[in-house]
Amino acid sequence: ATAPPIMQAARQALKRYYGYDNFRPMQGDIIQHILAGKDTVVLMPTGGGKSVCFQIPAVVSEGTCIVVSPLIALMKDQVEALKANGIAAAYINSSVGQSEANDIARAATGGYLKLLYVSPEKLLSDGFLQFLTRVNISLFAIDEAHCISSWGHDFRPEYTQLGQLRTHFPSTPIIALTATADRLTQRDIKTQLNLHEPQVFLSSFDRPNINLLVRPGQDRINSVLDYIARHPQDPGIIYCLSRKTCETVSQKLIAKGIKAGHYHAGMTPLQRGKAQEAFLQDDLQVIVATIAFGMGIDKSNVRWVMHYNLPKNIEGYYQEIGRAGRDGAPSTAILFYSFADVMQMREMVTKDVPARQAQLNTAKLERMQQFAEAASCRRKILLNYFSETLPQDCGNCDICRNPPTTFDGTLIAQKALSAVFRSREKVAINLLIDILRGMRNQAVLQGGYDQIKTYGAGSDLPYLDWYSYVHQMLNDGLFYIAYEEGYALKITERGHEVLKGQLNLPLKKFQPAEKAEKPTRAG
Ligand code: ADP
Ligand code: ZN
Repeated sequence: ATAPPIMQAARQALKRYYGYDNFRPMQGDIIQHILAGKDTVVLMPTGGGKSVCFQIPAVVSEGTCIVVSPLIALMKDQVEALKANGIAAAYINSSVGQSEANDIARAATGGYLKLLYVSPEKLLSDGFLQFLTRVNISLFAIDEAHCISSWGHDFRPEYTQLGQLRTHFPSTPIIALTATADRLTQRDIKTQLNLHEPQVFLSSFDRPNINLLVRPGQDRINSVLDYIARHPQDPGIIYCLSRKTCETVSQKLIAKGIKAGHYHAGMTPLQRGKAQEAFLQDDLQVIVATIAFGMGIDKSNVRWVMHYNLPKNIEGYYQEIGRAGRDGAPSTAILFYSFADVMQMREMVTKDVPARQAQLNTAKLERMQQFAEAASCRRKILLNYFSETLPQDCGNCDICRNPPTTFDGTLIAQKALSAVFRSREKVAINLLIDILRGMRNQAVLQGGYDQIKTYGAGSDLPYLDWYSYVHQMLNDGLFYIAYEEGYALKITERGHEVLKGQLNLPLKKFQPAEKAEKPTRAG
């Protein structure tokens, strides 16, 4: 079948304005959906090509696409890039003066703009929505849409007001885009923006060329030096938690004759710019940085990324390792891990934040910890976190290459799943373990969980074993945590297959962290 005329126009616009011959997988479907006037949610990793998904519909539609973006600094770049490609675009935010804003407003109401970028503050300021009613709006694009979720790491209160758009413009399609894809964020985006039966497009978060490794945290500086000695030509980034660590690690590398530099928010913009430039130009082989480094960095030949300290959640980890191997060539991500890192991080993520946020941060940190302690394919865990399932183990992580000994854990998994099922998917991990172990505490008795059939079915195993197995099951995607429902566990399709005995589950024998991380000499 030939593409509908509007899609042919979209293809032509892609070629004419961007110089590309083909849409990437998904972009075409997304654009077709939007052009049919439907609400759309796009979950795509950074660099995946989200902009094209709303810019092309904007170009081929009548009227103006209103783009809401919180990143004032990037707005200017985006608009200039569009203009350079011959697309009429403008932005209004706090940096734009009144008379210029008036000119832009006139251009918008006159129908001369294909895209108008606005900050959420501006959008919700006095009279702006009123002004928008005089613009022929083709589409609203909400960029960085995860900012709407108070559970997320980037929450922006202004974003929660964006629900008004639907009230004022009931028939204008809305596309929400983000690189954060956990279930809760998805839910918040859909409900808070009042999207109408939105279709969700989840593009793969997989980066198969990155070899995922976790190394014991003991003596990490020597592991780092070792690795660099064996890869003397390869540019890499070392992420550290503190500014101080960045500086000391960088000094130690320099002392060994490695061309290294540091980068953190405590440096002047000039110093930072210099360090970044030197790394981009390959004058520095290694940059030792806090997570402040990397936003908007486009260096395609970064061969490795190391985490000297444990990241605070999987979103962050994923973003940072994603700076390796943009060119698609084999690359390596190494995470140094010790239990002490978890304790330190736990303190950091719970300090000076509201209780609810502290609880969420802790839960996210626990997922990070479980990734680090994983017994099964790490890429599966990573993708599972982003709501994706990988059919086979990846073959390109340390677990796949060097599998730990496992046993058939199907029966254990069935006990846990059955307990979750019989308690009507209302219990969180700790309570589940209490039920399995036949504890008689208040939470168990109040819920009447001592009456269910699986009560005490796992009393032969200590708490920590269950803790490990339940997290392995979580990592394997047998259930997930509904954060918004008191952290209750919900069984997935896959979990039901295990429960029905259609699928077996290998589990790694539980080992306390100290034992599990006996130093292994990397080859
Ligand atoms: P995101 O917003 O998802 O981070 P961008 O929209 O900035 O990603 O796109 C990332 C890069 O991919 C850009 O350089 C863009 O020009 C390029 N790109 C987007 N779509 C295509 C395509 N269909 N073919 C080739 N390159 C593309
Ligand atoms: Zn793997």
